[in-house]
Amino acid sequence: MAAPRVAVVGAGLIGLSTALRIAEVIPSCCSITLLSEQFSPNTTSDVAAGMLIPHTYPGTPIHVQKQWFKETFTYLFAISNSAEASEAGIHLVSGWQVFKNPLEAEVPFWSDVVLGFRLMSAAELQKFPQHGHGLAFTTLKCECPPYLLWMEKRLKANGVQIHTRKVADLWELHSEYDIVVNCAGIGARQLVGDQQLFPIRGQVLKVHAPWVKNFIRDGDGLTYIYPGTHSVTLGGTREKESWCLSPDPGTTKDIFDRCCSLEPSLQRAQDIRVKVGLRPSRSCVRLQREVLSQGGARLLVVHNYGHGAGGFSVHRGTAKEAAHLVEECIAALEGFSSKAKL
Ligand code: FAD
Repeated sequence: MAAPRVAVVGAGLIGLSTALRIAEVIPSCCSITLLSEQFSPNTTSDVAAGMLIPHTYPGTPIHVQKQWFKETFTYLFAISNSAEASEAGIHLVSGWQVFKNPLEAEVPFWSDVVLGFRLMSAAELQKFPQHGHGLAFTTLKCECPPYLLWMEKRLKANGVQIHTRKVADLWELHSEYDIVVNCAGIGARQLVGDQQLFPIRGQVLKVHAPWVKNFIRDGDGLTYIYPGTHSVTLGGTREKESWCLSPDPGTTKDIFDRCCSLEPSLQRAQDIRVKVGLRPSRSCVRLQREVLSQGGARLLVVHNYGHGAGGFSVHRGTAKEAAHLVEECIAALEGFSSKAKL
């Protein structure tokens, strides 16, 4: 059988991390090409805060989500502890998730994956006069664009070809590739007509406030302050089914006021930039094999999209699973080719 040709569509966090995992586990005889309409800094992934705090997917069993998070945390923790950390833009960050009402639920499923998870002390809670309860922990943060650029560099070093191309229909790739991996994010709604995929618009501010060192997340995470290497991300909004990519000035003021009420020192923040992104949302990530066929020809497809509000928190775990599905496709191709010889 000729060496399988694999195309990965999408150069956001999910496409890059999936292509990287495929390049790591699949023999070098297989050729890998990354095709994308947009690259960093023009993807949703570039807008995100990049915090590793899982969002829950209602359609995915919790033990699977935990496994994805654990694999992602372990992978990034090792990078944060290496000489690559600053170039890759991966660092540890400590902080608090604060609540006005007593915590009803049991501890979150990810509590034993992050570091030093505990209830906040009464002394710590004095910082938050409007909140009576809280959790303290240390997690990881990915800086974007550096993390995306670091992955792109590693892909090139692994011989992966990278091309700018908008794919109108996956079938258009069938004469050039044997396997296509669909990591198109919200673009998958049009690319494969997935009506279960919808945008949840998020507007954030990136501000200069280098004195803010700890993250602060209010309750379910609608308001948050996430310090990064060069800026602090202030959020946010969750607007279901909104496709609008233009910043809204009223929302900017509202986010700023909410964050200042949590951390009053932000009133002196400077260089306020506003960003908007569309979270590619679904009840569960679509991680699945599919065979497309037309007139006797076939194209093997692996889908990996729909990470919603939590792509950074689980991307390495889903990339591993998608690469495994690609391995299964290669085995199936070998099966077809040996049957054809009989
Ligand atoms: P994208 O980054 O959108 O990439 C999709 C890629 O596919 C792009 O390169 C695009 O050009 C390409 N593409 C699309 N259609 C086509 C086509 N037809 N042909 C060719 N190429 C195509 N997650 C966390 O875990 N932690 C956070 O702190 C966090 N904060 C967030 C804050 C905001 C404001 C937002 C909006 C999101 C946040 N997220 C966070 C979620 C996270 O950003 C997403 O889950 C993740 O970025 C999705 O990555 P993706 O690669 O699927 O999508």
